[in-house]
Amino acid sequence: MKANVLKALNEQWNAEYYSAYLYMAMSAYAEQAGFKGTAHWLLEQAREEAAHGERIYEHILERGETPVFSDIKAPPVKYESLKDVFAKVAEHEKRVTGMIDAIANLAQDERDHATYHFIMWFVDEQIEEVSEAEDLLGKITLIGDNPGPLLSLDAVLAQRKFQNPFRED
Ligand code: MG
Repeated sequence: MKANVLKALNEQWNAEYYSAYLYMAMSAYAEQAGFKGTAHWLLEQAREEAAHGERIYEHILERGETPVFSDIKAPPVKYESLKDVFAKVAEHEKRVTGMIDAIANLAQDERDHATYHFIMWFVDEQIEEVSEAEDLLGKITLIGDNPGPLLSLDAVLAQRKFQNPFRED
């Protein structure tokens, strides 16, 4: 693998673990604010991000390369409201989409078809991630500060069940 492609994949798998940290921090905020369903949804989201990180890490090994472990920075822990949380989820997922797209561009430039094909799964995944985050942000914006509808949404978010797309278990 070309060194620049490997570097980008190494940065990305570490970035996915940062996403897991970020969503765990948001989950802790939601839990303490009394929105246990939202806390659960965010913790499931964190597990999904860790699975993304693990998948890219595995891909690096499958290609005969060495995964690099970076420091994962501490995420912000203070949020103003659930609306603030989901605005930041949407913003973060758009940033991640940019990173995934940059890997696809680099793989094309380097004619690295294996990486290009591999990263396409993540391109599709980001469409879903951004769409879901914007959908939730839209709903929370409409609800505003009304506790009844906020708790109804919280109950819906409590139903989420993460299934690792890369594992049978
Ligand atoms: Mg991800």
